[in-house]
Amino acid sequence: MIKKGLENHRDTKVENIESDLVVVGGGLAGLCSAITAARSGLRVTLFQDRPVLGGNASSEVRLWSLGATSHMGNNNRWSREGGLINEILLDNLKRNKDGNPLIFDTVLLEKAYEEQNLRLHLNTMVYEVGKKAHNIENVTAFCSQNSTTYVASAPLFCDASGDGIIAFLSGAPFRMGAENKDEFEEGFAPNVKDYGNLLGHSLYFYTKDTGKPISYTAPSFAIKNAKELPRIKNYQLAEHGCKLWWVEYGGRLDTIHESEDIKFELWKVVYGIWDYVKNSGEFPEAENLTLEWVGTIPGKRESRRFEGDFMLTQKDIVEQRHHEDAVAFGGWAMDLHPADGIYSEHNSCTQWHGKGVYSIPYRCYYSKGINNLFLAGRIISASHVAFGSSRVMLTCAHGAQAVGMAAALCVENSLLPKDIALQKNIEKLQLRLNREGQGIPSVKITDPEDLAQLAKICCSSTLQFSGFVPSDDWQALHFGTAQILPLSANQGYDFEIDVDAKEKTSLKIELRGSSTSDHFTPDIIVDKQDLQLEKGKQRIKFTNEGMLPRDGYGYLCLLRNEKVSVRLSDERITGLMTVQNKVNKAVSNFGRQDPPKDIGIDSFEFWTPERRPKGKNFGLSIQETLSIFEIGNLLNGKVRPGANGRTNAWVAARNDVNPTVTLTWENPVNINEIRLFFDCDYDHALESTLMGHSENIIPFIVGDFLVKDSSGNILKEVTGNHQAMNILKFDSTLSTDKLVFQFSKGTEYIPVSLFKISVF
Ligand SMILES: Cc1cc2nc3c(=O)[nH]c(=O)nc-3n(C[C@H](O)[C@H](O)[C@H](O)COP(=O)(O)OP(=O)(O)OC[C@H]3O[C@@H](n4cnc5c(N)ncnc54)[C@H](O)[C@@H]3O)c2cc1C
Repeated sequence: MIKKGLENHRDTKVENIESDLVVVGGGLAGLCSAITAARSGLRVTLFQDRPVLGGNASSEVRLWSLGATSHMGNNNRWSREGGLINEILLDNLKRNKDGNPLIFDTVLLEKAYEEQNLRLHLNTMVYEVGKKAHNIENVTAFCSQNSTTYVASAPLFCDASGDGIIAFLSGAPFRMGAENKDEFEEGFAPNVKDYGNLLGHSLYFYTKDTGKPISYTAPSFAIKNAKELPRIKNYQLAEHGCKLWWVEYGGRLDTIHESEDIKFELWKVVYGIWDYVKNSGEFPEAENLTLEWVGTIPGKRESRRFEGDFMLTQKDIVEQRHHEDAVAFGGWAMDLHPADGIYSEHNSCTQWHGKGVYSIPYRCYYSKGINNLFLAGRIISASHVAFGSSRVMLTCAHGAQAVGMAAALCVENSLLPKDIALQKNIEKLQLRLNREGQGIPSVKITDPEDLAQLAKICCSSTLQFSGFVPSDDWQALHFGTAQILPLSANQGYDFEIDVDAKEKTSLKIELRGSSTSDHFTPDIIVDKQDLQLEKGKQRIKFTNEGMLPRDGYGYLCLLRNEKVSVRLSDERITGLMTVQNKVNKAVSNFGRQDPPKDIGIDSFEFWTPERRPKGKNFGLSIQETLSIFEIGNLLNGKVRPGANGRTNAWVAARNDVNPTVTLTWENPVNINEIRLFFDCDYDHALESTLMGHSENIIPFIVGDFLVKDSSGNILKEVTGNHQAMNILKFDSTLSTDKLVFQFSKGTEYIPVSLFKISVF
């Protein structure tokens, strides 16, 4: 028993922690930075002030995580973020394809729990910083659940707290609010008086059909005039969770210090909307519905942005500017919201897309003022306009992986974050990240330690592509539809496709390409023809006279004609797909974007895919054979198709029952580890919550494979793989002059493919 009398003062229990890196904030950014550093051998402490991980993606807020794929609603092909965040999303898909936010919490918690070098403190809020000159020495945190104060010291810190608690307390330079147009020549910078300075918070609710009538009495604080809200006319009963993102407020307030007031206003709005739904008589279908869940923690969009040695701006995004120190990429639209949110007469958001993904320089990820402070998540060094894009969670997580890896390089070499920006160190960082599948665009990587580069490589077969096997599936051309194919510059091709015309009509066919080799926007028309069709089924031929000016993906476009159907194929092959000139209002895609002339943003059409099981290839044939899946692709360092028209994949022949790749060396080499990179369909947006997916394993991923040595001994056998990257480690160094990789045979419709083999 403990019994104590009156004392003058008591302290909470204090625990001191020594680590190599302290990460503050357990959103997707903080988690990815912490795990990446821990996997690289650093002792990492992660403080998260709430009971679960995930930040805005957690079950407390329930936002679906998004990034460059933009719900597959813009022209960013094969652009899902790679590395750890991809691993997390593929794990989530495997066990949670229907997007239950509670299950996603467990996927994240498990990831942290499995890292031996990672010490996670939930419910523990960092509130104080100890400093010496411009270095942080320690942070202090308090856990309300175990009444313990933690003082965590480390040579390096990462602020991924959303509002930037330690960056702020340490005195790091920051901004809050919108820049004017002139500072960075950003035509999209808002008119602050009219539109406002900051994006607001949002709160969501879920509803449930109980099967019997349910009455509802609103709390007294609920607004009484929900019917008059400018956006209520767009509300549909089927909308749950983050589809209610427009329930937004607070952009004219201090989104940090008035955050609780903003949340309360949002509760008033949410309960007022539900009162209107249940009791106005205008939603009779809502009779059996009840509120199942209402958010208690608002999703916060914007507050402080901290300054690094580089500030990302609109021009970096629109012009896809090249940065030598690129370590991550983004591709969400520049997406700004009127500060008055739900009370505004403006559209709920204004989104302008780039033609392709953009690089984010490493210099955005550390404070320019505090020597040992990394920045991750929405607080990175970006202007208000660029933040409108870089703020989405997969972009945040992707950059945070670079932070975790940079921290490892700092500790290994006694460097500070700024030092990594030097060329020789940046190349090391990019190399290490790409080994994990980061997939930084436009960074050419040759890995001097990769023994596969020294090997002779051969395979059992290679698919020589001259078309898809047609099926009995036909698709009406309700939208312009294009087959994407890697084509060579200045070459004519003879394409043949079956079409079915309801009546005599003409069909417009175009061959398009992209104006640069950095994006997948089909913005140049190199050939167009009008084909006269008779009624009924017929085979059409298209021989292009105009040709692509450079090697790249070509778009064989059949323009919209509802009287015509095109014959499809059930085959799906890595690096090949169809897209449609279609609308996707969720991301402000109205078939094309035409911004005001003077805001420095491009006009172009959107050609976007349909999600599986739709989105089939054309049952087309090409007289010329395309050699696009050669075995050498496995050694070019890339793990996804590139806008330069390279599939970057090896694909086995359709009839190969024993697809095999063999590496041989002149003399035995010492091997500790093998890395294989499969096709996890980087085009498919893997929204983590709410939105379901048609499969729980990406169908291009090879499930079963084994690795043998020169004597035919099985060194490793993997079954049931669902991941993009497989690391096969050996307990002791293996010496051999040959590795044979044997993959389970492809399915009837999907031949075996692989992007990369590395051997260390
Ligand atoms: C309503 C809304 C809609 C959005 N829509 C989308 C969308 O559809 N898809 C998308 O990807 N992005 C979306 N975004 C943007 C995105 O959610 C945020 O920009 C993103 O979550 C920022 O990531 P972060 O890791 O910096 O912050 P967060 O996700 O907020 O994570 C920060 C974490 O730090 C913790 N923390 C804060 N202070 C402390 C402290 N003192 N000590 C310890 N821990 C602390 C917090 O609890 C939190 O878990 C939306 C944002 C909002 C608000």
